[in-house]
Amino acid sequence: MPNSTDPIRTVAVLGAGTMGQGIAQVCATAGLATRVFDAATGKAEQAIASIGGQLDRLVGKGKLTEDKRASALSALSPAATLAGACREVDLVIESAPESMELKAKILAEVVEKAPSTALLGSNTSSLSLTELGTRVGAAERTLGLHFFNPPPVMELLEIVRGIGTSDAAIDRALVFAAAIGKTPIVVRDFPGFATSRLGVVLGAEAMRMLESGVASAVDIDRAMELGYRHPMGPLKLTDLVGLDVRLAILDHLHKELGEQFRAPALLRQMVRAGKLGKKTGEGFYVWKEGTPQPPAAR
Ligand code: NAD
Repeated sequence: MPNSTDPIRTVAVLGAGTMGQGIAQVCATAGLATRVFDAATGKAEQAIASIGGQLDRLVGKGKLTEDKRASALSALSPAATLAGACREVDLVIESAPESMELKAKILAEVVEKAPSTALLGSNTSSLSLTELGTRVGAAERTLGLHFFNPPPVMELLEIVRGIGTSDAAIDRALVFAAAIGKTPIVVRDFPGFATSRLGVVLGAEAMRMLESGVASAVDIDRAMELGYRHPMGPLKLTDLVGLDVRLAILDHLHKELGEQFRAPALLRQMVRAGKLGKKTGEGFYVWKEGTPQPPAAR
């Protein structure tokens, strides 16, 4: 059992996609030794190279010192295997796609390969930490560590407590949140937690409005940005998150919580067409060099 006062010095980030890359950047910048593992060959190395580019940009803008950039880069290392990533690690943050089967398979292997004191965090947006912890046989040290996109910028860390999660594990996660400069909230394990449940409702309703021809994607977003002071409209945000990610969350919440979470047909169609948002270059907007351009008329 982890002790709540055991410091977190070494972190393994499992899954180096949109979120894993950002989480690794946050941990390394906070001075934690950060190992990055991804099932896709070369992806961990690619993520670290891309973090290097992000850190350079921050130095260029005067938001990071040269020294901090160098120490963050030296704190990062790619791991060729999951076992290598988990060796003598204090904390694992799983950030693989939103599937219970996949996450349970990964964490079951972590339980075998990592020290029995390691905290097992999952960046799941909606899945049950109680189920995940029970399935991997380590409920007391399994918890949600839900970061927001992009992790280096977003201040919140949603810590999700499963039924079996120990007080010591939560306390240790709170210490970790402070160490990486995030503001935590601790929520009970319930489908969609405190964030995704509300976030996807707005996104899905905006898609239904687009389907009904109420307004263009740009104007629906502008309505929320200028009328309600949202920093980013719901369709642009869906592009940033990934349409596949949002569809997986909606399908899960539909199954768990009912009809109000049924995914719009347009979202499912766009995912089938490979229009996943920023990461594929097209979603509700066309993305050029990281900037959204209004889509061609549908
Ligand atoms: P992504 O598709 O960008 O990245 C997932 C990565 O996991 C890929 O690089 C893939 O190769 C890798 N992967 C697949 N199987 C693996 C395995 N067995 N072991 C290790 N790596 C494996 O997805 P993402 O958007 O980064 O989402 C990851 C998780 O974070 C999901 O649970 C998602 O719900 C959650 N999340 C996403 C966002 C967001 O805005 N995208 C925000 C908060 C939380």
